[in-house]
Amino acid sequence: MGGYFYVNWRATIVQTKLVFINGHRKLVPLDYRPRQDSDRAYNRHRTQTNGKYVAFYRSAQWLHLRQQILERDNGICQRCGMEATLVDHVVPSEDDWDDRLNADNLQSLCKDCHYYKTRRETAKRKKGVKRSMRINVIAGYPASGKTTYVAHHCGSHDLIFDYDAIMHALTGLPEHIKNIDVHDYVTLIRELILRKLKAEQTFDNVWIITTFPDEKLDSLLVSRDLHHLMLNTSKEVCIERLNKQHRNVPELVKVMSRIDEQKSEGKFSGFEIIAQ
Ligand SMILES: [Zn+2]
Repeated sequence: MGGYFYVNWRATIVQTKLVFINGHRKLVPLDYRPRQDSDRAYNRHRTQTNGKYVAFYRSAQWLHLRQQILERDNGICQRCGMEATLVDHVVPSEDDWDDRLNADNLQSLCKDCHYYKTRRETAKRKKGVKRSMRINVIAGYPASGKTTYVAHHCGSHDLIFDYDAIMHALTGLPEHIKNIDVHDYVTLIRELILRKLKAEQTFDNVWIITTFPDEKLDSLLVSRDLHHLMLNTSKEVCIERLNKQHRNVPELVKVMSRIDEQKSEGKFSGFEIIAQ
């Protein structure tokens, strides 16, 4: 094997070799070793082009079912609502071959959504761990330290829903200033997140910061590893912080009273109290 030569900008000679990465030709230094994930991507591609898969995706049975699913989903991508161009296995056929013809495991997707879903699956496969995702719902008085608590306990592969942070991101307004017209959008984001979390496994922890207990959330995520936490920061400390932050204290004291009411009604009975 001779290898190729080219002159780089320093005018030194670098010996190179020609390799195939994911089916593309590339000139690389002689000592180059393809990265592990390219290997995996390549192997995966090869698996998918091997006999079993090719035969399946060409079978009359699949083509018929595929058409049925597109009709069932009205030709709409089930993730983004744009026109669907393909039918996807929710659990990849590679992971569960027996489920490949189960209509409940099939969904219509557009090309882009399918691309991102596949990318995520590849990333997950690379990690090679089956996660047990814990969902934490954190309630408590305004300024009781919920966001700080989450910041101290969250890890690098967690998902955090924080109303104030999203409001801030969507409006550019100073923190804790609400635009009532944007409120609907933040609520919509929260609902979409909750619905997606119902069938999610990928995160280590999910943190949902809330003020009041939320029955809708509890019933939606009833089958999940759901934990309810409440910070027991005293009212006096919270009010002191709210004053320092120049927040609307009379209004927020009303919120605290509503929390107290709900406590006396037993709506916080399932919450683990976190001492502050
Ligand atoms: Zn889509």
